[in-house]
Amino acid sequence: MIDETELRNLAQFQAERPILSVYLDVDPTRHTSEEYLLSLRNMLKGVEGQAAPEDIQAVQRYFEHEYDWSGRGVAVFSGAAAGFWRVYVLPLPVASGVTVARRPYISPLAALLDTYERYAVAAVNREGVRVVLFHLGEPISEEVFEGEEVKKLKRGRGSSGGAERRGGAPSGSRHMEEVAMRNLRQAARVVEQFWRQHNPRQLILAGTEPTVSQFRDLLPKALQETVVGTMSGSPADSPHTLRERSLQVLQRVEKEREAATVEAVVTAAAKGREGVLGLDDTLSAAREGRIRTLVVLRDFHAPGYRCTSCDYLTAVEMDHCPYCGGVFADIPDAAEALVTKVVEDGGEIEVVDHHPLLEGAGIGALLRY
Ligand SMILES: [Zn+2]
Repeated sequence: MIDETELRNLAQFQAERPILSVYLDVDPTRHTSEEYLLSLRNMLKGVEGQAAPEDIQAVQRYFEHEYDWSGRGVAVFSGAAAGFWRVYVLPLPVASGVTVARRPYISPLAALLDTYERYAVAAVNREGVRVVLFHLGEPISEEVFEGEEVKKLKRGRGSSGGAERRGGAPSGSRHMEEVAMRNLRQAARVVEQFWRQHNPRQLILAGTEPTVSQFRDLLPKALQETVVGTMSGSPADSPHTLRERSLQVLQRVEKEREAATVEAVVTAAAKGREGVLGLDDTLSAAREGRIRTLVVLRDFHAPGYRCTSCDYLTAVEMDHCPYCGGVFADIPDAAEALVTKVVEDGGEIEVVDHHPLLEGAGIGALLRY
């Protein structure tokens, strides 16, 4: 399964001959496998002459004979000349597309990981909690805690509910609150332990509003800070049910985060400090290894040039590299080259679908100090 480490390994791979990168949307709820195979063949036809025939055949062979049509998206990278072959079956859909370049085309994977890598859902009620760890929407670990049943104490024994006033046993509802509180505290400890063990990047709380807010207050501060959203749910819900709802929450969170990051980039760039906007300035910042978060519109592509000896990237055509005197090679997509460089350097990628402030520039970044 793909994760940040694997993504960095992919970003670091570079070959003499072009790598064929293929993304295929295989969501079974929308089309049949025959239809997906047909669209694959058409996409591969489009890169004949660019990609090596062995790579095209290898990808075709994989989808026709080996792939079991599990998952909702697939990413395949083939560089037969270099003995390079990677397949990632993804539990979430990706946009279909084919790219031929000296490096694997990793933007769509970076975008998926950015939103859906390692998160946990804690579904809580007054009697217990179910906490599930997801990776890219796939449940990979879970823990269930069932506490004491919360029910009214039997009234009676001749006291007819007047016990409390006389300082005796607690009334039915007070007893219920105590049991519920004890359960919630225990549930919070279970979630805290789960969190320490698995270290998810984000936490979603599920349940009724009052219980969720009570539960949240019982969590340690550091854990509270990882809570990105809440949703309906209960410990009785299956991981599958929690998955569908949690994906919606994360999509919403991602939209908000995108907007906030774009605004931060625009503000920082306007002040001329810690932010850049536009391809040229972003390429320069990348050269200095200063990019903390790269922000790029999903559909932004621009041709560029890469120095064949020192890898310097630029959008401006020059005879010789100003840094090493080397010669430049055309690259079809400078934006993708930037994504690769930033992933290699350990920076974050924020792929943005739409944002009015980014429409003109297409790309920008928040910088390290
Ligand atoms: Zn150079």
